[in-house]
Amino acid sequence: MAVHPSGLYLDGEWRTGPTKAVTDRYRQERIAEVVEATPRQVEQAIEHAVRAAESVPPAEERARTLRDVAERMESDAERIVRDYMSETGFTRSDAENELRRAARIYRLSAEEAIRIAGEQVPLSGPGHASRLAFTVRVPVGVVVAIAPFNAPLSTVAHKVGPAIAAGNAVILKPADKTPLSAINAVQAFHEAGLPPGFLQLVCGSGSVLGDALVGDPRVRFYTFTGSTGVGRRISARAGLARTQLELGSNSATLVDSTADVEAAAAAVSRAGYRKAGQVCTSVQRVLVHRSRLDELVAALERRVEGLVAGDPFDASTDVGPLIDPREAERAAEWISEARRTAAKAVGGDRSGPVLAPALLVEPDRDSRVLRDEVFAPVVSVVPIDDLAQGVDMINSGAYGLQSGLFTSDVNAAFRTFRRLRVGGLIVNDTSSYHADEMPYGGVKESGHGQEGPKYAVHDMTDPRLIVLNLPEA
Ligand code: NAP
Repeated sequence: MAVHPSGLYLDGEWRTGPTKAVTDRYRQERIAEVVEATPRQVEQAIEHAVRAAESVPPAEERARTLRDVAERMESDAERIVRDYMSETGFTRSDAENELRRAARIYRLSAEEAIRIAGEQVPLSGPGHASRLAFTVRVPVGVVVAIAPFNAPLSTVAHKVGPAIAAGNAVILKPADKTPLSAINAVQAFHEAGLPPGFLQLVCGSGSVLGDALVGDPRVRFYTFTGSTGVGRRISARAGLARTQLELGSNSATLVDSTADVEAAAAAVSRAGYRKAGQVCTSVQRVLVHRSRLDELVAALERRVEGLVAGDPFDASTDVGPLIDPREAERAAEWISEARRTAAKAVGGDRSGPVLAPALLVEPDRDSRVLRDEVFAPVVSVVPIDDLAQGVDMINSGAYGLQSGLFTSDVNAAFRTFRRLRVGGLIVNDTSSYHADEMPYGGVKESGHGQEGPKYAVHDMTDPRLIVLNLPEA
């Protein structure tokens, strides 16, 4: 068993204390012990952060640290990948992809650190002409970052990278089930020489630490990724602090009558099942023009039947276990509910925490696999009469993260874009497309605020105005 010395990092030091086991998701065995923080230690973390934030390292120094973190994580890739695969249950290709992305996000954040700029404010009109005004952007101060289990390297990078780039001190709380990836990232910051207090790590259950983390008036910014329910709670407790909330979704991808159906099926079979469907932008619903339904279902069925579910450490596995056997049970129940009304159902058998990829055709419009967030390897296909009907279906739901659209009609793409109430539309790819430099975020119950280092750095700084009264000689 790999023993991680600590999960508690305060004021530049790893601390000891009572520990909690981390479990391998497939084998359901203990793989590490991690020190858990107490609510009092969360308060101490905030105190250290407040003190650290009083002397912000220069931009070039912050950029150097972030670049160094990227290099250190890459050079320790094999260990980080193995920890990640065990604690998440995701495959090696998911792990390597996320580590690559995390390193890139830290490098993108480094670039933003040296580009932070305010603007000149043109003042005119009677009595103002002699004044020169401009803003500089200053760090907000203390940022709390709360991460989910399903992207424990890249989500942490999307929070910690921009926060440090902006000159803030950060308290990071990873998901209770996936602390090792966060520990590995924090260790890279430690080795890169980030000054004490600029990054603190507190592991433990959100239900125990949540109230100490959220609601302290010294925290000026909360960056949270997770479920809509917890996001709502954080929003209610955050008071006057700003929030960036990346929340749930039941993302849809539209397939128009003019689409390349083979390309759509290939993309959906990747984006619907990778990470066992535990991705906020996973393709959960495919809304396909009725004239292409049979062709799409046949192409998807072929691909889904070829996907192998099982041990993520086995190189032939495409779909690993769900994060928790209870989640696999829950999703299996939703599938059997949908089976009762679906025109066709493929896969979906459960073995412990592993759920075989499932494809459901035309389940009842009110079934949970369509209405709620399934967060499992389950894709439902629903026929539509035209794109406008698909847009209405998406807009009438609770969520609004990203949507995909396969079409060869540029006018139809633009009409869809104008009407859809989502954070982003991806044309000729699925809802799951994500480049780390792009602005990324949702609307409605999918949250607010945008990820992407450039946008997050902007949000994690305040504009401070100076007006110089320069009377003419
Ligand atoms: P979750 O249960 O909401 O947990 C997210 C984080 O919040 C965890 O660190 C959790 O700690 C913590 N937390 C729980 N209760 C809290 C409280 N009262 N106060 C403060 N923090 C608290 O979400 P998850 O199951 O880890 O992740 C899956 C969800 O994340 C899905 O809904 C998915 O759509 C969403 N997600 C969204 C995006 C996006 O970009 N929009 C990206 C990824 C994931 P514990 O682990 O200890 O409970």
